Amino acid sequence: MTALFATESSREVIRLLEQAGYEAVFVGGAVRDYVLGKPAMDIDIATSAKPEQVKAIFPMTVDVGAAHGTVLVLMDGEPIEVTTYRTEGTYSDHRRPDAVQFVTSLREDLLRRDFTMNALAMTKDGELIDLFGGQQDMARQLIRAVGHAADRFSEDALRMFRAVRFAAVLNFDIEEDTFKAIRSHAPQIQHISVERLKAEMDKLFKGSNPVKAFHFIQQTALASHLPLFPENVDKLGQMVPYETAIEGWSCLMVAGDFTPGAVAKAYKLSNAEKSFLLSVQQAYTRRSTELFTLDDLYKFELAVLQVVEKLVHVMGDARQVLSNLDITSMKQALPIQSIADVAVTGKDLMMWTGLRGGRWTGEWMSKITRAVLHGRCDNHPNNIKEWFLDEFKREK
Ligand code: ATP
Ligand code: MG
Repeated sequence: MTALFATESSREVIRLLEQAGYEAVFVGGAVRDYVLGKPAMDIDIATSAKPEQVKAIFPMTVDVGAAHGTVLVLMDGEPIEVTTYRTEGTYSDHRRPDAVQFVTSLREDLLRRDFTMNALAMTKDGELIDLFGGQQDMARQLIRAVGHAADRFSEDALRMFRAVRFAAVLNFDIEEDTFKAIRSHAPQIQHISVERLKAEMDKLFKGSNPVKAFHFIQQTALASHLPLFPENVDKLGQMVPYETAIEGWSCLMVAGDFTPGAVAKAYKLSNAEKSFLLSVQQAYTRRSTELFTLDDLYKFELAVLQVVEKLVHVMGDARQVLSNLDITSMKQALPIQSIADVAVTGKDLMMWTGLRGGRWTGEWMSKITRAVLHGRCDNHPNNIKEWFLDEFKREK
């Protein structure tokens, strides 16, 4: 391998650990992504040094999980996770090891990792260490558990969902024994916290082939043990690729005929995500019967309008389908995007009428907003003043 793996600072971390007499290598997703020719995200280093020994070598460290062996080293301002070689003890709850034990061999550390592609290691000079055939599996585009698949899923049930998530992200298949083990252990996914499932779902939605994951979820029966999942996966897959995770959640809601509240509750969505789904539901109901009106274009944010237009199209009840570009230019063509764009304020109304402010100011500002939006009045102070005084007199 000619191109140098990882950053200069992370190689420096390994160099210093080696200088102090310890072993240290790159591990995890960054090595996998490098072999796949993808840019490495977070860089993880595994070492034979214990956390205390790591901290003694580097002046700038942060304790992020010393009990589990992880120390964050700040090298030239770059945060690099350094984790002591470890094995995980017994798992009595299908999700967390009862205890971790530090070990001295890299092999033991790699054995505890989930899939062969995630159990690769690389030296600072770019030499690949592949003890479980990870490269071969990657060449065949296969996700294969390290060791005995059934045991590995029984230890930590999240691994089953990681398998389907990686299938979506990498567009890989799941190796046969690994697949069977997921099918026989599917009910154990219920031991996994919703937060961790939600994080995997977000990554799955943004993957290059979410449909593949949806089918795996269904075929392995994981679907019936998840907090909420549509029965009709074909419907769910119709809107791919999703540009954002929230687009995926919107589609899951519509495909499963779930309410925004039900989805938000089942997967503990954030308030922002929940309100996005609420808007999608409202706009979807409107758009199913007619084209977006000026009021819809004004009321809903662009991202909601775009998701809904796409939804209406794939769910097959649209009368006319607009592209994202159409929606964007229709929204941009509105005379105002929000009340803040109106050329006058409540103070102007008070000045023109000589009245003190009150509830009427807000009410009239929304009437003016509507008039401007619908083109009954140009968005200029003089035009608004004329329109307003006319209407105001008439209503008195
Ligand atoms: P991503 O690209 O999403 O970060 P990743 O493989 O780096 O994927 P991480 O959660 O960052 O995933 O974990 C880093 C490494 O730790 C993995 O590559 C794998 O070796 C190991 N790992 C993570 N979660 C598990 C797990 N539940 N069981 C076993 N090994 C795991
Ligand atoms: Mg990672």
